[in-house]
Order: sequence, then C-alpha cells, then structure tokens
Amino acid sequence: MALIVQKFGGTSVGSVERIKNVAKRVIEEKENGNDVVVVVSAMGKTTDVLVDMAKEISPYPNKREMDMLLTTGEQVTISLLAMALMEEGYEAVSYTGWQAGIQTEALHSNARILNIETSRIENPLQRGKIVIVAGFQGITADGEITTLGRGGSDTTAVALAAALKAARCDIYTDVTGVFTTDPRYVKGARKLLSVSYDEMLELANLGAGVLHPRAVEFAKNYNIPLEVRSSMERTTGTRIEEEASMEQNLIVRGIAFEDNITRISILGMPNAIGSLSNIFTLLAKHHINVDIIIQSITADGNTNLSFSIKSQDLKETLEVLESNKSTLQFEDIETETGLAKVSIVGSGMVSNPGVAAEMFSVLSQNGIQIKMVSTSEIKVSTVVDEKHMITAVESLHEAFQLDVGEPSTI
Ligand code: ADP
Ligand code: ASP
Ligand code: MG
Repeated sequence: MALIVQKFGGTSVGSVERIKNVAKRVIEEKENGNDVVVVVSAMGKTTDVLVDMAKEISPYPNKREMDMLLTTGEQVTISLLAMALMEEGYEAVSYTGWQAGIQTEALHSNARILNIETSRIENPLQRGKIVIVAGFQGITADGEITTLGRGGSDTTAVALAAALKAARCDIYTDVTGVFTTDPRYVKGARKLLSVSYDEMLELANLGAGVLHPRAVEFAKNYNIPLEVRSSMERTTGTRIEEEASMEQNLIVRGIAFEDNITRISILGMPNAIGSLSNIFTLLAKHHINVDIIIQSITADGNTNLSFSIKSQDLKETLEVLESNKSTLQFEDIETETGLAKVSIVGSGMVSNPGVAAEMFSVLSQNGIQIKMVSTSEIKVSTVVDEKHMITAVESLHEAFQLDVGEPSTI
C-alpha cells in the first residue's frame, strides 16, 4: 500500500460543490488501495478577502495577528472536506498545521518549515483514516502560529510527502499542468509533460505562481515525484522530476514574469571594502529580499549600486537605508517603480551560447528597453517597464518556438 499526498488549491475548493468534487478525487485514490493525506488551501479568494479586511483596519497590520487571521481560512476547508468524506461513508480526520506537527522558524508571514512531527498523522493513517491537513500554516517552538508565505500550501504538501516518505505528491489546481508560460495571459501557452526540478525552481522563483518555490525545493532535496494536475478535468498533468527531456530540442522550456518590481539606486558610496556587505547585511536583517544587483564605479572613484526589490518592500527599504545613511555613507537614493521582470528558463541554455543575445535582440526589435539583467546557467532575467511585460513575454514565447505544436487549453 502506497502513501499519496494530494493538495487542492483555493479555486479547487472554492465552493461547497467543489469540496464535494474534491472528496470524490480523494476517494478514488483511497479506492486504488492507497493511504491518503490531503492538504487544502482556503476556499476561493478567502485569503485575499482576509488581507483586505485587515488593511481596512491598518495599512501595516501586525504580522503575528495577520498570521492568526489568515490561518482561519484553511481551517474552514479542512473541516468541510472531512465532513464531505464522512458523508460518503469514509473515515476522515482534519488537523490544523500545528496539530499535524508542522514546526516552523519564528518568522511571521513567511516562515520556513523546520521539522514535521508526524506521529499525530501516522496514527489515524494506520487505522485507515483519510487525514486532512490545513496548508500554509505551522507553529514555532514558542507555540506561535505562523504562515509559510502566499501560495505556501504547496510547500505543506511536499514537506508532508517528504516527512511521511510518500510515494507521490499530486498538486491539483485550476490549470491542467505547468505551461510554457502563464496560460491566463498568453494564448499560445502549451502544457509541458515534464519539467526538471531545477527548471521548475527557477520558473517558480521568477514568478510562475503555479507552484510555491519552497515546495519545489523540498521535492528536489527529498526526491519526491511531483505532479501538477487539474482538479476538474481528468487529463495527464505535468511531472516535475530530476531530468526532463527537452521536447524538440528546445533551448528554452518556459517563460516566467512578475510585475510590481522597483529599482533602487544608491549613489555616491565610497568605493571601500565592506560597503556592499554593510548594505546587504542590513537589508537581510530586515528580511528584505534583494534580487538583481548591479554595481558600477563612477569617474570620480565612487560606487553606484542598483538593485531590484518587490515594490511592496519599497517603504521599509527606504526607511532602513535612510536611517543608516551616515554609516553607509551614500549621497543619494533614486527609485524607479512600475517595473516588471521577464525571464526565460531552460536547462538547454548551458550548452548554447547566444541565448541571452537572442533574448535582447527580440526585445529590442519590439522597442522594449532593458533596464537590468541577470543570468544563471539556466535562465536569463530582464527588467523592463511594466507596460511592456506581456508584449515581451509573447514575443519571446514565439521567438523561442514555445508555441509550436498543439496549443493546450487551460
Ligand atoms: P492554487 O490555488 O491551486 O494553488 P494558483 O493560483 O496558486 O492555484 O496557481 C495556478 C495558477 O498559476 C494558474 O491559474 C495560472 O494562472 C498560474 N500560472 C502562472 N504561471 C504558470 C505556468 N507556467 N503554468 C501554469 N500555470 C501558471
Ligand atoms: N491560502 C493561502 C494563499 O492564498 C495559501 C495557499 O493557497 O497556498 O496564499
Ligand atoms: Mg498556489
């Protein structure tokens, strides 16, 4: 008997009817002779609604209370799904993240899972029960409730699969798999049959919201076979695995994009050893994620530094930098908001020079100015004006022949 972890996202549990549909998919897996652990998200847009309510009260709500609020969303779904399964004659039990033994670091709103104490889950599983666990939540060593970052239910599922040594983790969602790019924005996007862990990790980190990046990290580290599937349709999904063969020898596997990017430039710093480390240590201490970094030396021997951040972190970043101006010794700060990051990803790039050049030339042919660039062995990222984001994605999708073949429907 194998153990399967299934995860159903917000849209898939968006109404009572859909929860009953999820119960059917869970029962099918149970009837195949498997033990089943199910992870669910909050119903539909519940998390967004809760965030909006908090923002009506405070523009910067207290993070501990925010976690207390948001974790209620998943708790609604677990109990309803347990009832739906019982109604069909199956034994089921639901657990919050803390009941399920999901221990996290002490960081509100974006905590990492440190350990899962699985005994609480194993017991009912051994007695044949279907175990349902609330996604996206955990508990610190001090007993404080935490959340794992938006989209974090994927990570709960894969981490449970790793801890319980599951045979498979299936992520059921509102698309039929991982596509060459977001099918909601690009009509020609095609479903991929398989993607490697490394490519998926890049895509997820670079904005492809279909999987939470830490879920892919767990899957890679513990070698968990992961599949993204539709919760509504019964079609083959996308496998995420160690090695994915490149269809038609394509160099690029997919395109990810993300808006709400801001560039910060720190001008006129002394060109001293330690200047950079002072700035980035300070930002890291405040949990501000810095992405692309560009450093240049001016004619008069000073250093200018540009880096990109998420626009939501702008206020805090400026506060941190300004309040440390005298120690950091810079002259001025410049910011540019309204930017987006467009990235091409594919393991075929390692052995193919000229991929970045082709990307830049496609963007310039479309009159799109590139503001920042960063590369790794398997990706090239460019920062462009937000208003050009979709044109950039569409033209790159075509230029790298990702639209060739049967277009898939969502
Ligand atoms: P869930 O609530 O099930 O976790 P999400 O909204 O988090 O669902 O993720 C699914 C969404 O991810 C899709 O509706 C799609 O718009 C988006 N998405 C972004 N990039 C991709 C991609 N490359 N392939 C498939 N879906 C993508
Ligand atoms: N409900 C949370 C969110 O909307 C977690 C998740 O859906 O994965 O971000
Ligand atoms: Mg999600």
